[in-house]
Amino acid sequence: MCASCAEIERLAELLQAHKGATVLTGAGISTESGIPDFRSPGGLYESIDPMDYLSVNALTRHPERFWTYFAKIFGPVGEVEPNAGHVALARLEAAGFVATVVTQNIDGLHHKAGSQHVLEVHGHLRTVHCEGCDRTFPMSEALDQVAAGGLPYCPQCEGALRPDVVLFGDPMPMAFARAIEAAHRSSLTIVVGSSLTVSPANSIAQLTEHLAIVNRDPTPADRHADVLVRGGAGDSLSALAEAVL
Ligand code: NAD
Repeated sequence: MCASCAEIERLAELLQAHKGATVLTGAGISTESGIPDFRSPGGLYESIDPMDYLSVNALTRHPERFWTYFAKIFGPVGEVEPNAGHVALARLEAAGFVATVVTQNIDGLHHKAGSQHVLEVHGHLRTVHCEGCDRTFPMSEALDQVAAGGLPYCPQCEGALRPDVVLFGDPMPMAFARAIEAAHRSSLTIVVGSSLTVSPANSIAQLTEHLAIVNRDPTPADRHADVLVRGGAGDSLSALAEAVL
């Protein structure tokens, strides 16, 4: 008998009763693909405070430090592959059990795994845009400029480039309003791999009648959850997919 089998069984029953669920994912779903999260033991918060490095203020006041850190942490993400957790969610969506994946992640792994309805509420790593003329360019062009020892600038107007991710201090994008609408259309939200401490994205977990949480560590919303699966996202979501498909 696996450690969380009873909880997975309960989650499967809940999902069967509430098809069209919203899934809210965080950095924890991608750790099994090799991308460190912020708050797990060994996560990025142990070495630095990302707020000091990944904020609008940091980009404006210390652009060299911002881009050096950004390229080090997120540069390799383009080569990373989705894991069993991402794949299981794509399968559950194809079968109608999941309606929308709302992700706080910027790594693009839900798209790579085949999920169709993904709302990236913290943006993504695919592109950067020019703060001067608003043109968009592939992220790789900015990272190449950083690797060559400079700051990324626009080839058209020489304005500063910035990533299309939501930095601390940025307003939330339209995808967040759409995520709220999506959650309101569901009766179940499943949180996967999130500490639920980043606001306002964590508010998505409060909008449905039913809540399930799949996470390795406790979260502030655990006491509100109908089902709590304390385990790895890959194994847990694969077992969930096997149970309902
Ligand atoms: P977080 O780091 O605050 O919390 C991650 C949670 O996932 C932790 O509670 C941890 O216990 C859990 N976890 C770690 N590995 C797991 C696994 N294999 N299975 C199940 N649970 C696991 O992450 P957050 O809540 O998403 O907030 C951090 C912010 O930083 C978000 O905006 C996030 O998107 C961003 N971020 C993104 C990436 C990425 O795109 N992959 C990586 C780091 C940080």
